[in-house]
Amino acid sequence: METLQKQKSKLNNAGFQVHTLENTTEVKFSEKLENMGLFPLKPKNIETLQINLGKLCNQICEHCHVDAGPDRKEIMIKKVLQQCLGVAKTTTITTIDLTGGAPEMNPNFRWFVSELSQLGKKVIVRSNLTILTYKKFLDIPQFYKDYKVTVISSMPCYTKDNVDKQRGNGVFERSIEALKKLNELGYGKEGSGLELNLVFNPGGASLPPEQMALEVDYKRELKDLFNVEFNSLYTITNLPISRFLDFLLKEGKYEEYMDKLINSFNPSVAENVMCRNTISVGWDGKLFDCDFNQMLEIGIASSSQNIANFNEEELKNRNIVLGQHCYGCTAGAGSSCQGALV
Ligand code: SF4
Ligand code: SF4
Repeated sequence: METLQKQKSKLNNAGFQVHTLENTTEVKFSEKLENMGLFPLKPKNIETLQINLGKLCNQICEHCHVDAGPDRKEIMIKKVLQQCLGVAKTTTITTIDLTGGAPEMNPNFRWFVSELSQLGKKVIVRSNLTILTYKKFLDIPQFYKDYKVTVISSMPCYTKDNVDKQRGNGVFERSIEALKKLNELGYGKEGSGLELNLVFNPGGASLPPEQMALEVDYKRELKDLFNVEFNSLYTITNLPISRFLDFLLKEGKYEEYMDKLINSFNPSVAENVMCRNTISVGWDGKLFDCDFNQMLEIGIASSSQNIANFNEEELKNRNIVLGQHCYGCTAGAGSSCQGALV
């Protein structure tokens, strides 16, 4: 488990006096916001409930910020799923965003999605694609179509070598197989109403390239090489936490990467960081400002600490808890679970 404490130890062991929160020699993220009159950072609204259904995954990707894998035991139980449903029903939240691990591996996944779909909200599943090629999950693409689920999937490149290097051997081929299957059902096709979006994140210690230009390249290459189509490409910046932090420390690139993030701070995207319209729910029901704070176990600054006592008004008035990792959301074109912020 990658807690904030663990992250601090890793950095200290590597000789850094910098921490993920604010006791640091770097320019503090909160000071940057203060200079813009944005501190303390407040939510604008709560539009999205992002729910982590568990850390179990069939893959062990090099840059996974969840530290997910086949041996993880943390799974959201039915009682907590029911509490999430209750919140979805009784609040003004418009989007339910399901993530993991591989969310499909939660034993109550099908039941949960079918219940959610009756609420008239947008339901997103962050699918790793490869899971859809395993026998037990072959029905899922049709299930997604039946319930009009929006599918968002990682595809860090259109070449096999780059994808397999970051996500494991054989991942590229299985991902293409799953994309073809989704396309056959109408996903990613204009006018079908079935949305299929891909996610790019850099393979190394760099910022993502310009989102729209990269989307054009992806569309051309995937169509020409594999006859695969999709709707939009989201570029996401790797945050310096969990497995990506291990990678940076191993490569001796932590300092260089932090400098890059800090020097690329973009005030125009700071206004729109995703914690201003999203609440993240951990597998055990705990609430967080975002998925990254969840992974670092940085608790939310509200008396609503758990989905069981979700109080929309109170959560809308909270101060968002910030740390140095937040620079990952505000560098260059910005980054969120929906891609660039400009
Ligand atoms: S597929 Fe996603 S959740 Fe699973 S290990 Fe890879 S990045 Fe992590
Ligand atoms: S890391 Fe989380 S809390 Fe920090 S700016 Fe990004 S979304 Fe907000």
